[in-house]
Amino acid sequence: MHSCDLAPAYVRAIAPYQPGKPISELAREMGLAEADIVKLASNENPLGVSPRARAAIAAALDELALYPDGNGFELKSAITAKLGVEFGNIGMSGIVLGNGSNDVLELVARAFLAPGTSAVYSRHAFAVYPLVTQATGAIGIETPALDFGHDLAAMLAAIRDDTRVVFIANPNNPTGTLLDAASLAAFLKSVPEQVIVVLDEAYGEFLDVDLQAPSVAWLADYPNLILTRTFSKAYGLAGLRVGYALAHPDVAGMLNRVRQPFNVNSLALLGAAAAIDDAEFIAASKRVNDAGMAQMVQGFQRIGLEFIPSFGNFICVKVGPAGEVFQALLKRGVIVRPVGNYGMPEYLRVSIGLPEQNARFLAALSEILEQA
Ligand SMILES: *Cc1c(COP(=O)(O)O)cnc(C)c1O
Repeated sequence: MHSCDLAPAYVRAIAPYQPGKPISELAREMGLAEADIVKLASNENPLGVSPRARAAIAAALDELALYPDGNGFELKSAITAKLGVEFGNIGMSGIVLGNGSNDVLELVARAFLAPGTSAVYSRHAFAVYPLVTQATGAIGIETPALDFGHDLAAMLAAIRDDTRVVFIANPNNPTGTLLDAASLAAFLKSVPEQVIVVLDEAYGEFLDVDLQAPSVAWLADYPNLILTRTFSKAYGLAGLRVGYALAHPDVAGMLNRVRQPFNVNSLALLGAAAAIDDAEFIAASKRVNDAGMAQMVQGFQRIGLEFIPSFGNFICVKVGPAGEVFQALLKRGVIVRPVGNYGMPEYLRVSIGLPEQNARFLAALSEILEQA
């Protein structure tokens, strides 16, 4: 008998997460120069790193012999200051730091799920929700999508006695759909109080202010609400791995019980604390994204392609058999993300890049589709 045969069946059944193809890998495979490759596959920030974060990290290299602050005091203080009065009555004990917000999602699963329980998430929602659910041996309940987004009525109806967690991404990845604040508020009101609702706001910084839900204020009314946020997208720190959850202090305490003591490294703590106040960088990221989104939409309209209107820093476009188009783009040095594993075999998800990167992708796409 092989040791792997004795791993729990729910672990053996997991289909591993498929990350975007790294630039270095494509360069090796195709014999291309890395500088000639455009990667629009992982929703990374085309402006790079927040300059403030970069300076803070460079200044801290000599401290790497020391363990990080396991409580993340400086970063939590910076987060509290940024969130302001709405968060005042929750405070630092309501913050849980993670090695990316993926880490925080996993903490939620490990704290609240186990065999004999279930979690609810939507079709076409972020792949990490089924992954972290399955890893605990809990049942994942996938509800049908509504116009590629979350169907909150279906999600509410899917909640069973054994349901402990509901996962919602807003905006959603990979589809870019957005739920409005009123629908979310009504949903929170209807969900049984013992069921945790995770509202994943990884792309919140890309929303116009009038589209941002007052989610931090909801924390005071809903002790079963967990907000998750990340420094990977608008803050340009995906490689550093840092994100956080905001929740009722009791719920945060549960997450902290299953957290590794030093899950966020010292450079990540410092970099994120420096980046959080970099309003200029966030504003620039949003400007570049808004312009790039308009450029993509115009490009798709010119080529005559259907797309899913997106509120994130990426967009899904319908290209027919997407595997072939994906490969043809790779040959031209452009990396995007096929989303067949999300049940969308005819779509490609493309991250919004700099104007010249977007143009390069659109030109390659148009050329490939003309030849087909
Ligand atoms: C990118 C993304 C995250 C953030 O992942 P990190 O682990 O913080 O890098 C979380 N949720 C969704 C929906 C995402 O797309």
